[in-house]
Amino acid sequence: MSDYPELIVNGLKIDPKIFTFPFGCKCNGECCYYGVYADLKEYDHILSMQNRLIPLMDETQPKDVQKWFEEPIDDDDFDSGKCVGTEVYEGKCVFLNKNGLCIIQSLAIEDGIDAWKYKPLYCILFPLTIYEGVLTIDDEHIDRLKHCNKAEQLTTNIFDYCKDEIIHLLGDEGYQKLVNFRDEYILKCE
Ligand code: SF4
Ligand code: SF4
Repeated sequence: MSDYPELIVNGLKIDPKIFTFPFGCKCNGECCYYGVYADLKEYDHILSMQNRLIPLMDETQPKDVQKWFEEPIDDDDFDSGKCVGTEVYEGKCVFLNKNGLCIIQSLAIEDGIDAWKYKPLYCILFPLTIYEGVLTIDDEHIDRLKHCNKAEQLTTNIFDYCKDEIIHLLGDEGYQKLVNFRDEYILKCE
C-alpha cells in the first residue's frame, strides 16, 4: 500500500494499485486449478445443492461429496469468520469440469438466474481479492499461474477489466466512489 490517503468503501480499504495494474484475461480457467476458499455459509449452500450438482459432474470430478471440501479454518476476511477450501482433484478444483467450466456457475445458468449467484465470492473477485480487510490484487495467485496475465502489451488495467466484479462487491455507489478516487489518485501521480 502506498502512503496515499486511504479510501474505505463498505468497510474495505482500497489498495490504489488496482487502478494501474495491467491485466488481461485470455486463458481457459487456470485460476480454478488450485481451488478456492469459500465462506462457511457458501459452503453450506453448495452442499445443500449437491443433488443437483452431481449430475453436472463429468468423469474428471469426484461425485463423492466427502471429497469436495477441506476442513473449515478461521479467517476474518470472510463474513462468517470461517472459510473452507475446495479440494483439488485431477489437477483442478473439484467443481471445474473437463471443459474448463465451473458447474456451480452452470447450475445458476440452468436456473436462469445471475451466473454468479451460487459461486464463492473469491471465485468471482479473482484477479482481485480481499486480504486483511483490503481490496487488492491477488498477485501471489497470478504469479504462480502459467498463463494468467502473461500476454504482452496489455492495454487494460485490472480496475477497468473487473468493473462488473467491483460492482458486484461494492454496488454502483461504491464503484462510483472508486472511480472518483481513481481520477484524483491518477491526477496526483502525474
Ligand atoms: S487464470 Fe487469469 S487469464 Fe486465465 S481465466 Fe483466470 S483470470 Fe483469466
Ligand atoms: S468453485 Fe468454480 S469458479 Fe471457484 S475455483 Fe472452483 S471451479 Fe473455479
